[in-house]
Amino acid sequence: MSELRKDPITGRWVIISTDRRKRPHDFRLESVQILPDPSCPFCEGHELMTPREILSYRQQGSPNLPGWDVRVIPNQFPVLRVEGTLDRQGEGLFDRMNGIGAHEVVIESPRHDDSLATMSEAAVEQVLWACRERVRDLKQDRRFRYIIIFKNHGTAAGSSLDHPHSQLIALPIVPREVRDEVEGARAHYVVKERCVFCDVIRQETADGRRLIAETADMVALAPYAPRFPFETWIFPRRHEALFEDAPRQEIASLARLLGDMLRRMNRVLRNPPYNLLIHSAPLAEPSGDFYHWHVEIIPKLTKVAGFEWATGFYVNPTSPEEASQVLRDVRG
Ligand SMILES: [Zn+2]
Ligand SMILES: [Zn+2]
Ligand SMILES: [Zn+2]
Repeated sequence: MSELRKDPITGRWVIISTDRRKRPHDFRLESVQILPDPSCPFCEGHELMTPREILSYRQQGSPNLPGWDVRVIPNQFPVLRVEGTLDRQGEGLFDRMNGIGAHEVVIESPRHDDSLATMSEAAVEQVLWACRERVRDLKQDRRFRYIIIFKNHGTAAGSSLDHPHSQLIALPIVPREVRDEVEGARAHYVVKERCVFCDVIRQETADGRRLIAETADMVALAPYAPRFPFETWIFPRRHEALFEDAPRQEIASLARLLGDMLRRMNRVLRNPPYNLLIHSAPLAEPSGDFYHWHVEIIPKLTKVAGFEWATGFYVNPTSPEEASQVLRDVRG
């Protein structure tokens, strides 16, 4: 029997299709392979092949020279640009505005064949801290309403360069996926006067069936109604709406759990391509009481097809109880 399940935050329905039940070895897995690339612009020593850096953490050397651990640069082919005014206008039904925003690349390591799963905890912490620092800087620009941090790992997940990197895009609007979470969390708060994410954390840690791993500050779990097989969410235990306000200790704790989760996925799913994103509350909107920042990891194991496009809900062949058990039982 298949089962329809509703996500308690967004109200989004998914079908957990146990008839088509898939275990890790049933997926036609496409492992990520990092190939050497002598002309990679992100490698140490190739600093002059990229736009000038916005931020770097370095042991030695001056900006735009070797000696760095993490480097943030403007995207050479940005989807949105910083210069100009929003100039929002309507044409009857249709709204438009100029493509104002910021698009930055966080180069996570000077080494081409590194990954968040193989880097040291301290190195992953630096990457997360660089993201946090960039958000704190960009949010001073009042044109921006949201800043999304995401990572595409592997060609199948949309990455065009093998060198480990994340991206950060500041947007003049709040994206729909975030809006759905914010509105769902607000509705829950109106009725219960509690944060829905805190409620999920409390229930899942007590229940344990979908819990994967936890540290003193962080919890990793498979959501009750996941869109994708092995979809994993990581939450700080402490209620906080904004990622950029997380203290050092939580960022360090996240680095540890994130590396652990990615190593477990690599073991179970043989180095899968994946997308990773950080959801934080919209800028300049009072949502501190009911929104709760988090990380979502989505291994790329299935294709989004006609049914999903047509309905906006997803068929998932692996139950979160099974996924979390498999991830729980493997050592990272
Ligand atoms: Zn490289
Ligand atoms: Zn909360
Ligand atoms: Zn989210």
